[in-house]
Amino acid sequence: MITKEPNRRWELLRLLHRRNRLATAAIEHLAHDLPGADLLWQEVHKVEERVRIQFPAVWAIENASWVVQDGERLHTADSPRPADCRICAAQARLSVGPRAA
Ligand SMILES: [Zn+2]
Repeated sequence: MITKEPNRRWELLRLLHRRNRLATAAIEHLAHDLPGADLLWQEVHKVEERVRIQFPAVWAIENASWVVQDGERLHTADSPRPADCRICAAQARLSVGPRAA
C-alpha cells in the first residue's frame, strides 16, 4: 500500500487518474496535429508537479514510466493506433461504415 492515510491515498489516486486522462488527450491531440496539445501538456506537467511535491516517492517511481508510456503511445495519423487512441478508433469505425442490411 502506498499510504495508509485514506485521504492522502484518495488524493494520490485522483492525481494519477487525472494525469492519465490528460496525457491520453495530449497524445491524441499531438498525434493528430490538433490545436491545444501544448495546453494539455502544460496541465499534465502541473499534475505531475503536484504528485512530485505531495508524493515524492511515488513520483520518483512513476516519472520514468510516464515518459516511456507516453512515448510508446505517440503515433502519426499515417500509422494509426486504434487500441490506444480514441481518434484513430473513431476514424477506423468511420472507414468501415455502417453494416449492410
Ligand atoms: Zn490516433
